[in-house]
Amino acid sequence: MNLKVCKFGGTSMAEKKTIDLVKNIILSDETRRFVIVSAPGKRFASDIKITDLLYECFYEKVRSGSCAVPFARIKKRFYDLVNELELDLDIGYHLDRIQEEIDKSATPDFAASRGEYLSALITSEILGMEFIDAAEIIKFTAKGVFDAETTNDIVSHRLSLVKGAVIPGFYGAMPDGSIKTFSRGGSDFTGAIIARGVMADVYENWTDVDGFMTTDPRIVKDPLLIDVLSYEELRELSYMGASVLHPESIFPLQGTEIPINIRNTFNPSSKGTLIVKDTSVKEGRLVTGIAGRKGFTTILIKKSMMNAQIGFCRQVLSVLENYHISLEHMPTGIDTMSLIIPDSDLEQGMEFELVSKIRGKVNPDSIFVYKDISLIAVVGHGMSHQTGTAAKVFTALAKADVNVKMIDQGSSELNIIIGVNTSDFEKAISAIYGAFFG
Ligand code: ADP
Ligand code: ASP
Ligand code: MG
Repeated sequence: MNLKVCKFGGTSMAEKKTIDLVKNIILSDETRRFVIVSAPGKRFASDIKITDLLYECFYEKVRSGSCAVPFARIKKRFYDLVNELELDLDIGYHLDRIQEEIDKSATPDFAASRGEYLSALITSEILGMEFIDAAEIIKFTAKGVFDAETTNDIVSHRLSLVKGAVIPGFYGAMPDGSIKTFSRGGSDFTGAIIARGVMADVYENWTDVDGFMTTDPRIVKDPLLIDVLSYEELRELSYMGASVLHPESIFPLQGTEIPINIRNTFNPSSKGTLIVKDTSVKEGRLVTGIAGRKGFTTILIKKSMMNAQIGFCRQVLSVLENYHISLEHMPTGIDTMSLIIPDSDLEQGMEFELVSKIRGKVNPDSIFVYKDISLIAVVGHGMSHQTGTAAKVFTALAKADVNVKMIDQGSSELNIIIGVNTSDFEKAISAIYGAFFG
């Protein structure tokens, strides 16, 4: 029989009316046997996600010794939700215990995880399905690294014993039992772990849009939907800012053939987007999608005969390594080299310290720092079969009067990465979208 694993995101779990939709989706198909839920998200634009409030609780307890003030807001939201849903669940008992534990905890992970925990308790009550705590089945090593194989063994055994279950997303446990979360948006990853563990026929990821769009719907109005894309294309697009799915979601599925189906809780009749392992999907298509991320700094190093100087790159990179800075891209010319660094890795003013260390190491002719850089990725397997993609991208950018600061194309020809000034970010994405899909 068909077996589906379904993950519902924060907007789907936000309030009674959205949870009613979730209930209908699960109950309308008996093959939807494993349900992973996020914490309640935003009900309206200015609302605050439960996970953000929980982080605030932890930091308030660090500041003042007690999380009581921000926690009161969380309590109210869950009491109201349980009342509206008319559930026979002693939510007060759970909330009081959580508040006590947050006041005792040493890291933010326990607090952050409780939104998913409570969300899953509520969902299991509504659906009459067993609740299985993620701490019981999702394991991290003592160093806090996700333990994929141990987890897979436990998940496949434990879930083979039940007909169905509701499991909280976003977290698991360390060997000493303490809670550890994935990075933000990590419930997508939990869903993929469970899908692999039970060898699902499909991993349905239910969210608030019709599927994976050709670009960010917050930048381009009503972009075209992508009906099918490959794991590799997904990885490139989500890593580069297409936040609809966590960039690591495909890792648990890589050794399998399990497709991910992005679906819309608010429009379940739409077939959504299918993400498959096969890279030959849609061979005629030139570009699959466009994504982008803000917040980078470029360090441009110039030195005549750089390419002849053995070890030049290594010496420059050793400076970054000493500062534990990750390098996003490193386009090079004969006499030039650019380092593209995420701002999240740079403490205030650190770029100038790096410049002085690089000067000391390789004595360049000149070195410049550019702040406020954004990266845009144009992604698609089709690029490797057809010519002219780059020309089309750069013509569109020139027409829109966007100054291109950097270009990088991987040898797999799966993507072209373009660096622009952040002030041109939205304009550049719209222009490229217009050239391929407009
Ligand atoms: P969930 O709470 O269900 O996990 P997310 O907010 O994490 O949902 O992801 C869905 C959101 O991703 C959409 O509402 C949309 O604004 C945003 N998004 C960014 N890029 C894309 C894209 N290329 N296609 C679809 N949605 C995108
Ligand atoms: N609730 C967590 C977050 O906001 C995880 C998730 O929604 O996937 O990041
Ligand atoms: Mg998400």
